[in-house]
Amino acid sequence: MKKIPIHLLNSQTYCEYQIYLEYVKGIKVKPTLEMNKGREIHNALEKEHKKKAKFKLSVMDAIKKSQKEKITLVGREIPVTGNYLYGFIDEIHLMPDQIVIIDDKPNSYPFFANKKQVFGYCLAFEEQFKTNFPLIACIRNRDSKKIVWKETFSENHKDIVFESVKRILRIINQNKKAEPTNKINKCKSCRFRNVCDIYKIRFSKRD
Ligand code: SF4
Repeated sequence: MKKIPIHLLNSQTYCEYQIYLEYVKGIKVKPTLEMNKGREIHNALEKEHKKKAKFKLSVMDAIKKSQKEKITLVGREIPVTGNYLYGFIDEIHLMPDQIVIIDDKPNSYPFFANKKQVFGYCLAFEEQFKTNFPLIACIRNRDSKKIVWKETFSENHKDIVFESVKRILRIINQNKKAEPTNKINKCKSCRFRNVCDIYKIRFSKRD
């Protein structure tokens, strides 16, 4: 694998064993009901955005327009490809003096795994579009539409992402053993629980 889907930064923080199961063992599992619901909501938001959209511009043209006319332009489902990572940004606000990168999540608490995913979008965006503006990483509750966390993307955040990328690549290339989470409550809501040998060992001991 040359480039990593950005959502794996989230998986690596939640439980590295998920990455081992999917990318080393090649196990595919069906999307959960929650994932399907999330997809439906994302599609509805995208449809709503398209209805309201006044311009169809490339990201670079939108950045230039926002700068020149001192206006804020909003885009959704923006594909990004950086040096190591690729994915789709849920929503982006191009402002004359900063760029806000938003990830819509079902929760109202900014878990570190979610923050790291947004830092991944920021890094890929910065590498692709070579912008010098401050990037604001942001998590929004997809139902209430309230911003639950925001932070200016920094060099420290880049290092966090690089460290994660290194670990993911080592797991996928089988140079490193994936560490299963030690928080067994995570296992109970994991989409891999029916195929995970760690789950079976942990929960059969309790029967
Ligand atoms: S069931 Fe637990 S150990 Fe297995 S992949 Fe999921 S979170 Fe990790």
